[in-house]
Amino acid sequence: MAANRYHIKIMNEGSSSGLSPNSAIVVLTGAGISKESGLDTFRDADGIWARVRIEDVATPEAFARDPARVHEFYNHRRQGLLADDVAPNAAHRALADLEQRWPGEFLIVTQNIDNLHERAGSKQLIHMHGELLVALCQSCFAETDWHQDLSTETACPKCGAVGSMRPNVVWFGEMPYQMDRIYRALARCGLFLSIGTSGNVYPAAGFVEEARMTAGARTMELNLEPSEGASLFEEHRYGPAGEIVPTFVEELIGGLAPQHGRS
Ligand SMILES: [Zn+2]
Repeated sequence: MAANRYHIKIMNEGSSSGLSPNSAIVVLTGAGISKESGLDTFRDADGIWARVRIEDVATPEAFARDPARVHEFYNHRRQGLLADDVAPNAAHRALADLEQRWPGEFLIVTQNIDNLHERAGSKQLIHMHGELLVALCQSCFAETDWHQDLSTETACPKCGAVGSMRPNVVWFGEMPYQMDRIYRALARCGLFLSIGTSGNVYPAAGFVEEARMTAGARTMELNLEPSEGASLFEEHRYGPAGEIVPTFVEELIGGLAPQHGRS
């Protein structure tokens, strides 16, 4: 009951959020949110895919053909992620703060394989493209936390198989993780945010339509510049993630604060 009155009160006072505090929020994040933490993006002019071919390092066929090359690529990125100067930025921290303070359901679906959301304190998090700091054994399918380099000589700590270890990342042509759970969340969300994504990698690029068509969700893109899918969103904010995400989170949380002195 109290929650309902709260809802109506916020709506009547013209809160900028236009959301019930009970609404579920789903946030999709991509490489753009980690750029200010010192990690490379993919599809920018200076991004990873401008320097390395996808089909050489990020497909199951590439790994079958030249596993050493693929290991070298991910070893380099793993070392980069573990560098002392790489840390969550204000955008990661703002989302962790929003999760803690938002009364309704909250879920981050990240396309990133870094661990910056976790390090910022996020808990409800799906790594749909896997995790750089986890190794997957192709013999026994055990997943093991992994901070060292991988090679074709690496033995699985669970089953002992040699040469079966790969980064636990979803390559092009493979099925992203936890899609059922993601679509269930999209189908009941009241707000869908897309942060720092290029908007051209499916299935993630289709989440906005799922949220809008199935759930009738409010949809917003927060990005450095309009993505390829920008027209699919009702609202847009452009600028560095470390600036526009904290500002928007403050607006949402501000909409929840008791509105003393207003009638
Ligand atoms: Zn194994």
